[in-house]
Amino acid sequence: MEIVVKDVVKYYGQYPALRGVTLEVPRGVFQCLIGPSGSGKSTLLHIVGGVDKPTEGEVVVAGTRLNDLNDDQLAEFRNKNIGFVFQLFYLIPRMSILENVELPLILRGVPKEKRREMALEALRLVGMGHVDPKKKPTQLSGGEQQRVAIARAIVTRPRILLADEPTGNLDSATAKVVMDTFLTLKKELGITIVMVTHNLELLTYCDRYAKMRDGKIIETG
Ligand code: ADP
Ligand code: ADP
Repeated sequence: MEIVVKDVVKYYGQYPALRGVTLEVPRGVFQCLIGPSGSGKSTLLHIVGGVDKPTEGEVVVAGTRLNDLNDDQLAEFRNKNIGFVFQLFYLIPRMSILENVELPLILRGVPKEKRREMALEALRLVGMGHVDPKKKPTQLSGGEQQRVAIARAIVTRPRILLADEPTGNLDSATAKVVMDTFLTLKKELGITIVMVTHNLELLTYCDRYAKMRDGKIIETG
């Protein structure tokens, strides 16, 4: 299993955001999380990504038991294994799309030529290979900007992609283009994807889903 969450409880102060969650995701699977606002989906995603720590329970991701890691080790774990995509794209407007995608590589000290090559390959993988990489994010449509954000998330070749409402700001036709991008990444890279979504139309793209309510998984399929 690429992701194992076992009996996880998460309290924010007195408030139980997760009340005993068990979830296993095999490698290379596209897992969706659905359920109403406040049901704990983002919290679960943060715990899988090593952003948040569980109050109780065990979390093993990409072969690493996250319970055993301190904050520095968690940061290292995230850098190595996890790509994040959000509802808002968080691209840097003054930088070209190529520079945006190169950013995680700059932070890792990858040399310029190699960086460029990897960023162009990531843009190609998300179906943005035909777009002038010198363009600025604001010159692109919302769906194109999200695909650039996905390219930035996968340019370091993480094993796992975590997406929190990645289509929340997109119309439904564009949302499907983003889903096709995820399917391509799954096929080409064998990457494991966990996506939180409100859009039930997108469930057809997922291999599995888990429905949450009040901090628990109440249904799976
Ligand atoms: P156990 O081995 O303790 O029975 P499992 O890991 O088999 O626990 O699963 C416990 C519960 O979590 C099951 O009810 C299952 O429906 C749910 N579950 C586990 N993995 C997933 C998944 N990837 N997607 C949805 N639900 C899951
Ligand atoms: P969802 O993603 O399903 O909308 P969340 O995981 O964001 O749900 O939130 C679950 C519950 O935990 C909500 O009631 C939310 O208000 C609470 N919560 C989430 N993050 C925090 C936090 N950092 N501090 C306090 N409460 C939080």
